[in-house]
Amino acid sequence: MSEEIKICSNHDEQVPLIWTFKFDGSEYWCPACGYNCGMFGAGENVPVTDELKKAAKDWKKKATPFLSGDTDDWDYEL
Ligand SMILES: [Zn+2]
Repeated sequence: MSEEIKICSNHDEQVPLIWTFKFDGSEYWCPACGYNCGMFGAGENVPVTDELKKAAKDWKKKATPFLSGDTDDWDYEL
């Protein structure tokens, strides 16, 4: 069984969606474009790659202060 990762389907760049409870009613958040969606019907599942794993880790680290409420600053790149 191959492992899958959920990515944002709004743009060509593959950005892993982050699981968060920061936004009411949507558990997935795209750190690149701000796409929010609930746990059902969210984004797109693709086979996980080392790049995507690393991207997910980097995004999570970068977004932690924002998602934890330490700061409201967040610039969407896409
Ligand atoms: Zn996105």
